[in-house]
Amino acid sequence: MGKYAALVDVSRCTACRACQIACKQWNELPAEKTVNRGTYQNPPDLSVATYTLIRFKEISDKGEIRWNFFKDQCRHCLEPPCKEAADGTVKGAIVQDKNGTVLFTEKTRLLDIKEIRDECPYDIPRQDPNTKLMGKCTFCADRIANGMIPACIKVCPTGTLTFGPRDKILKMANKRLKDVKKRFPLARLMGDEEEVSWIYLIHQPEAEFQMTVRAKRPSTVARRAFMKPLGALVAGTAFLGSVTTDSDSSIE
Ligand code: SF4
Ligand code: SF4
Repeated sequence: MGKYAALVDVSRCTACRACQIACKQWNELPAEKTVNRGTYQNPPDLSVATYTLIRFKEISDKGEIRWNFFKDQCRHCLEPPCKEAADGTVKGAIVQDKNGTVLFTEKTRLLDIKEIRDECPYDIPRQDPNTKLMGKCTFCADRIANGMIPACIKVCPTGTLTFGPRDKILKMANKRLKDVKKRFPLARLMGDEEEVSWIYLIHQPEAEFQMTVRAKRPSTVARRAFMKPLGALVAGTAFLGSVTTDSDSSIE
């Protein structure tokens, strides 16, 4: 069970991106060379050098343009599908600390990035093309262990980001939701029941943000258990097929 949680009240975000910079500073991640693509979203995507990213979406609404901003990073699932998939091939490649924080280790270089990325409902894991190491947000586990809050949350100047014990964050999220609904009746919480450590308060419909939320796949364990008898069936069919062929040839 995750001990801590973060709340992202998206209705307050100004896309200043202080959180992106603080993340890079604390984790000593290099800047990335980018080109002007006609958007303020920069860099274009998450990577092993960018653990958190403000995603921009421009909405045309009754002749007016508005922007919606979405802070993307690992949600630190309480029962992480990435870890479950990794455990099936390289034990210890993805681990969870005592606070429930999900951490990628050196052993991730032995994993198949496609498999791990496909398992993540939020499309978060990325791989260094040279070292093959995988990377993502660490929830600043080192800071938390030393009584500090995650770097991105510490620097947010607008009150978009809050960190604390999970039960307190959930209470705060529900209280804020009531307030935000007065201005934005469609506002709702995301992640409060999905067993993740990053809870979002979104004030517009989900489709009006740039985010990835895939339907959860059946667990790797369940899929593997399902595939075993299926594999036996396929092998059996192949065997029967060869018998049929043999008997066919014997008929001739
Ligand atoms: S620091 Fe806060 S307000 Fe600025 S982009 Fe990040 S979440 Fe938004
Ligand atoms: S958000 Fe993705 S990478 Fe992060 S813990 Fe969940 S499954 Fe793993």
